[in-house]
Amino acid sequence: MTRMKRLRAAMQSQFPSLDALLLTHPPDVRYLTGFTGSNAAVVLPISGAPARRKTSAVLFTDGRYIEQAQRQTQDATVVIAQGPVLREACAWMRRKNIRSCGFDAEHTTVATLDTLRNSMGHRDRRKFFHPVPPVVAFQRQVKSAEEIAKMRAAAQLGCALFEKVLTVLEPGKRETEVAAHLEFAARMAGAEAMSFATIVASGRRSALPHGHASTQRLPRRGFVVLDFGVMLSGYCSDMTRTVHLGPATGSERSAYDAVLEAQMAAVAAVRDGVTCAAVDEAARSVLRRSKLAEHFTHSTGHGLGLEIHEGPRIAAGQEQRLQAGMVVTIEPGVYLPGRFGIRIEDTVVVTAEKPRMLTPVTKAWIEL
Ligand code: ZN
Ligand code: ZN
Repeated sequence: MTRMKRLRAAMQSQFPSLDALLLTHPPDVRYLTGFTGSNAAVVLPISGAPARRKTSAVLFTDGRYIEQAQRQTQDATVVIAQGPVLREACAWMRRKNIRSCGFDAEHTTVATLDTLRNSMGHRDRRKFFHPVPPVVAFQRQVKSAEEIAKMRAAAQLGCALFEKVLTVLEPGKRETEVAAHLEFAARMAGAEAMSFATIVASGRRSALPHGHASTQRLPRRGFVVLDFGVMLSGYCSDMTRTVHLGPATGSERSAYDAVLEAQMAAVAAVRDGVTCAAVDEAARSVLRRSKLAEHFTHSTGHGLGLEIHEGPRIAAGQEQRLQAGMVVTIEPGVYLPGRFGIRIEDTVVVTAEKPRMLTPVTKAWIEL
């Protein structure tokens, strides 16, 4: 079954009273149709008259994408809008006598909703559009073999970049220089983009969980946290390694060992059917034993794919169960303000048995 057909089936069972679904979030549009342009709306007729149930989805985009839309789009009819894309989509729904439409509440701004309602020109236009939860995002959580192959290629490039960047880490170099080396090598290897702003956090800055590369110079002694990812064929990679410049203190070394043990315990807990909370607890309980749990201030991991942060969330209280085919990160860390921080992150594929590691590059202690 195509992705579009699966979506239609899911909508028909969950929202039987809706006639159509409107999608505008580019990763969702890409996932369903293959179209990668920046401005598009997809209308998927879902129920109502039998004829409508069979009507194919329509992708509306603008004049910049005439050729690209024809070439890329699958499973949808392409319409090049003469004016604003959303107005065209609304006019089409009026012509097709569609009476109600779900919209993605998470990615539709208040202003856009206003535009949509005004475009319907309906007497009861307030009743036409209904917020729906992120159904496509949910579908995207479980990856196909083809998607996993793309993610493996992106992750492999990430691993190669880490090995490369080790050769340029030295005291006195700016964090931004390190990031520049890494990002240049990524682009030279064919990466379409970085999947997020590269994190290079050294010395005391390593205690900032999201310390984007700054102009600070790497210290003679201290940790360097490297958290980065590339995009290949539209899919993101994500990994973190922490290395030490110069000789470490005993407490730095024991904290590293604890984070590594926590990370490996959480990876080992990843399996089809296990709750996200249980995986989080596997990491947290190790750090509790080492009296470091209070310094582990974020969740254990997240799904990723066409976007860097997707479901599921691997965190305390998350009762969602992992499913084979999900691709998730496992990234516990500890952050001691004013002193140092450590994070180790891998990307793994959930299976019925041991997870498949997409980022097998070493995470053993590295002292440079
Ligand atoms: Zn990361
Ligand atoms: Zn991550």
